[in-house]
Amino acid sequence: MIRIIFCFFLGWAGSLQAQQVWEIVRVGRVDYVSLDSFAKFYGFKMPEEIEPNRPFVMSSAFGNLTMTLDSREMKWKGSRYWLSHSLRRESDVVLVPRVDLVKTFDPLLRPNAEIAKRPVQGVVIDPGHGGGDEGTRAARGLSEKTANLDVGKRLARLLDDANVPWILTRTKDRYLDHGDRSKLATDRPGFIFVSIHFNEDSSRSSEGWETYSLSPQYAPSTSSGGSLVGDEDQIWPGNSYDHHNFLLTQAIHRSAVLSTTNAPFDRGVKRARFKVLRLAGSPSVLVEGGFMSNPREASLMRTEGYRQQVAEWIFKGVMAYRKSQEMTPSPSRLSIETKEKTSSSTPQLRPVMNLESVPPFKPKVAVSNPVVSTGTNAQNPTPVPQTNAVDGEVRRAVPVTPVKKGN
Ligand SMILES: [Zn+2]
Repeated sequence: MIRIIFCFFLGWAGSLQAQQVWEIVRVGRVDYVSLDSFAKFYGFKMPEEIEPNRPFVMSSAFGNLTMTLDSREMKWKGSRYWLSHSLRRESDVVLVPRVDLVKTFDPLLRPNAEIAKRPVQGVVIDPGHGGGDEGTRAARGLSEKTANLDVGKRLARLLDDANVPWILTRTKDRYLDHGDRSKLATDRPGFIFVSIHFNEDSSRSSEGWETYSLSPQYAPSTSSGGSLVGDEDQIWPGNSYDHHNFLLTQAIHRSAVLSTTNAPFDRGVKRARFKVLRLAGSPSVLVEGGFMSNPREASLMRTEGYRQQVAEWIFKGVMAYRKSQEMTPSPSRLSIETKEKTSSSTPQLRPVMNLESVPPFKPKVAVSNPVVSTGTNAQNPTPVPQTNAVDGEVRRAVPVTPVKKGN
């Protein structure tokens, strides 16, 4: 283990708390802070004992946090989250990954901290797959692309009833490039992007709901098991919205898994660098609303009632996030400025990654041409037929300014 000690300061402007000095411990390529300092900052009571592989609970006035040493799994107020790296213990000090402190815990524990609010002007609903790309076909008689579209239209109807403008990336069974999907949100200030999918696994017993947020810079995706695979340094358009991505994701996730009726099994809030999330120039989320490869869940998905339920869970999460963006921020935001300790006891330091000062975004990827021209539905993102509506179709459409050609 290479241990380098840095200090940085948490500016908690206007609060009673003075600047708190944090100690950064680097193990390999990963930075950590101590669980002690974490607990102190967020007002958690430390557990008396922490044993390997046994979940421990830290309580606060705001809720209980459950974590496990050598595990990435975490629970906050009853729902499940995956950290970028496991909690670990070095020299009797329990360590929390720094990237999770900033990108997971801080949005979660101080959602109303001082960061620019983004009032939600509308929702881009993205039913995943379509056309030759069927998605999973694990549920006999129902392909994923069809279920995604049905749930998307149901979500649109719910948003319509709440007077929230929306756009469907596709209203028919047709293929759309991922970049074209995200671009519909990128082109509309204040819109958020919600991609709808169902899941598949080689094991028929895999079940439940997982909700994905774009991996922050420096954080591995959940599926990597905590290993750094080499793509973590890359910053994507979607990373400009890390804070809001996470708030949106957890709002939808909690709406589903904490539902009082028929709540799906909670597989957790996860991280991934899916292309639609990477390219989204707006807060974004990708929902995996159950496993088509699981016979019980597949039979649920074949019913209109369940697909309506899925749409309602997503809707309630979107509305909770939307409400959170109308609140006045409180004067505190985790500001991580790395400052070298000047005391003589501190060794010569090199700067650590400054997770908060994400550089201004410059696109590194070419986003595909706009979707708009004449002809098909997907090329005209303003939906939906207002006449001859049948079950599953949206009956009213809130007008949305169409994208100009050539934009
Ligand atoms: Zn899918």
